[in-house]
Amino acid sequence: MTVTHSGPNGTAPPNSSGIKVIIVGLGLAGLTAAIECYRKGHSVIGLEKTPKPTHLGDIFSISSNGAIVIQKWDGGSVSTYLDSVRCDVDKITVWDEAANVKLRKDMNGYREGEGLVLNRSTTVCTLYEYGKSLGIDLRFGVSVSSYWEDDHQAGVIADGERLSADCVIASDGIHSKARPIITRDTRPLTKSGAATYRAGYPAEVLNDHPDAQWILEGTEKADQLNHFIGKDIAVIMGTGRHGKDVYWGCLHRSSDGVSKSWLQPSDVTKALALIENWPARDKVAAVIKNTPNMTCYDHLVMAVDPLSGWVSEKGRMMVIGDAAHAFIPTSGQGASQSIEDGAVVAICLELAGKDRIPLALSVMEKLRYQRISFIGEGSAKMLESLHGANWDAKQQDKLPTLIARAMWIFDHDCQTSTYEEFNKAADAVATNSTYVPANIPSDGRYGIVEEEGKSTVKVPPVTRGPLPVQ
Ligand SMILES: Cc1cc2nc3c(=O)[nH]c(=O)nc-3n(C[C@H](O)[C@H](O)[C@H](O)COP(=O)(O)OP(=O)(O)OC[C@H]3O[C@@H](n4cnc5c(N)ncnc54)[C@H](O)[C@@H]3O)c2cc1C
Repeated sequence: MTVTHSGPNGTAPPNSSGIKVIIVGLGLAGLTAAIECYRKGHSVIGLEKTPKPTHLGDIFSISSNGAIVIQKWDGGSVSTYLDSVRCDVDKITVWDEAANVKLRKDMNGYREGEGLVLNRSTTVCTLYEYGKSLGIDLRFGVSVSSYWEDDHQAGVIADGERLSADCVIASDGIHSKARPIITRDTRPLTKSGAATYRAGYPAEVLNDHPDAQWILEGTEKADQLNHFIGKDIAVIMGTGRHGKDVYWGCLHRSSDGVSKSWLQPSDVTKALALIENWPARDKVAAVIKNTPNMTCYDHLVMAVDPLSGWVSEKGRMMVIGDAAHAFIPTSGQGASQSIEDGAVVAICLELAGKDRIPLALSVMEKLRYQRISFIGEGSAKMLESLHGANWDAKQQDKLPTLIARAMWIFDHDCQTSTYEEFNKAADAVATNSTYVPANIPSDGRYGIVEEEGKSTVKVPPVTRGPLPVQ
């Protein structure tokens, strides 16, 4: 069947597809899905439980594979704005625990016009403002409590109101309530064995602290990004907006005693205690100890074990983003893969059309499942490698894994690829046969570390049966 479509760079007239979509959770995945569904002619209701876009969270990265989606919005103006507030990092410096520089590396893939290292809340608020300017129905302060579907419709109960649509996309984050309902997978989240302290504060806090001024050096030209790696502890610290903001995070081995949520305020003395035996402690501690009260958080690093599928029984509901595949943050791909999810599901709905919604959602899963699985496994291996960091190791593969920047991830254009691959994946769904995705490397090197850095972490291919025919 030939379908006319808007193409990777194009948009369809508003509401032209006749498809109505309910999106639950307006973080990065949900807002991208809302904007991209609107751009592909679907009508959207977005529901978010927080009363307004949150001003919580510190830094995350959107690599070129995610940024390419945002660059198409409003003739590039959304992207231009985000570029103006990003951490303008030129190089990442990797140190050992004695403050010896082990590597200084160009930030390819994160330069202006490529990718973005950004404050999370700024990003979410920017996407929300753009979505609102398009006239998308984005409702805040509305909590979804249950989900339903039949052969013709799907919907939710939100604050007691029953809403219906052609499909429901649940992007309600790592602690998703939708996941067990939609996927029938009731397993709890996996503790990774790590926890992280995180903080961000205005750089002026450091005005009277000469020992911390090193973090602001040179930031009029380019922001700083430093990664200190020691056994069981890795500290990342840097600046944003040319030295106006300072942030740091401390990933450490732990599985108990801290909150699962992003929002558990913590005391920096606990983070300082972790590095007290580091020869580099004075340098690192100078930035940590000045963190203003109540702006340091800690939480367990959790992950969603690979689910057997993301789509509901009748094929009209699916989970995306962290709800479907929360990664350990070592790959830096959580945000970018959420953006890819949102963009791909909108195109699948466009190409399948209103009469084939279950096909659309199953094709979305077929297209993305293996890519996501490889990135997830690579992230876990990177965490292992960081925890076991031994800078004195004689064998190359025992040294810590440094930079997650694999070109097979960064160079992917998920929108062009979806238009190219949709029919092949749809055939595989219809015939219950194997689909070989085009968004993973064909040479078996499913690593997430760039080739010229330390050897690529090889991840064994995921073996998974074909999806049931819808
Ligand atoms: C408060 C917060 C702070 C974060 N800070 C960072 C950070 O500093 N660095 C980083 O790398 N990552 C951070 N993350 C995670 C990061 O945003 C995600 O890994 C990534 O962007 C994928 O986004 P997502 O949209 O899938 O999930 P999320 O960003 O988690 O968004 C899920 C959304 O769903 C909403 N929701 C949940 N349940 C319901 C419900 N029943 N009804 C309606 N809405 C619901 C939540 O309020 C949330 O807005 C943070 C997440 C949150 C929620």
